[in-house]
Amino acid sequence: MASVTGKRTPFIAGNWKMNLDHLQSIAFVQKLAWSLKDARHTFETVEVAVFPPFTDLRSVQTLVSADKYELKFGGQDVSAFDSGAYTGEISGAFLKALDCQYVIIGHSERRTLHNETDELIAAKVAAALKHGLVPVLCVGETAEDLEKHGPSAVPVAQLKAALAGVTVGADIVVAYEPVWAIGSGQAATPEQAEQVAAQLRLALVELIGQEAADATRILYGGSVKSSNIAGFMRQTNVDGALVGGASLDLAEFSSIVQFQKHVGT
Ligand code: PEP
Repeated sequence: MASVTGKRTPFIAGNWKMNLDHLQSIAFVQKLAWSLKDARHTFETVEVAVFPPFTDLRSVQTLVSADKYELKFGGQDVSAFDSGAYTGEISGAFLKALDCQYVIIGHSERRTLHNETDELIAAKVAAALKHGLVPVLCVGETAEDLEKHGPSAVPVAQLKAALAGVTVGADIVVAYEPVWAIGSGQAATPEQAEQVAAQLRLALVELIGQEAADATRILYGGSVKSSNIAGFMRQTNVDGALVGGASLDLAEFSSIVQFQKHVGT
């Protein structure tokens, strides 16, 4: 969870999607760690995680452990099942065994391209929590949803469906990712992100209780760049970003992580 002081620690997460093989992941993580070290980045101030493809995770784990990096990492998806005849699936237990701390669940690309339903996503959230992983639960509306139902209805409904079975106090991260903003170059405005994040936090109070809702990091995702991160980070209910394309550009990602240096710009 965010922080024992009650203040939420900002969280910048890079979703690599299906990019960078295991050798490229080693080079990238090494350069990222050096870049942040050069910039005197402190991970207690802004937490940073990367989400490489499954085949990279062992390499990333070995590097992070050997070089004692404070960088976190996680999977881009998890099976709803623990083990068994589920060809191609990856269990939460396997991710945990590789020191993953987080796992992305319900990304819009999985909802759309893999037909993931709210029920399946809820089962994946339960599986992640069962195995001691913090779900980074993605919710967000399409352009059509936005026109039909306004900005918050669909993300809030997805949140409620995904967390219906979780206990009060559950440790989760929520990523608000309007589908129309992902990979489009057209980010939401900071005010739009704040409006939905505030509604999501209200819904979290009902779902996991006031204390956990106050401590839960809500990220914005969708065409985040070094040039627009500061605006999002100034919002009361936005605690970080889930970054796709820009997380593959070392200078960009490093600059996004160091958003505190340009919040005044
Ligand atoms: C994402 O896929 O989670 C994402 C936010 O992508 P991008 O930053 O490229 O819009």
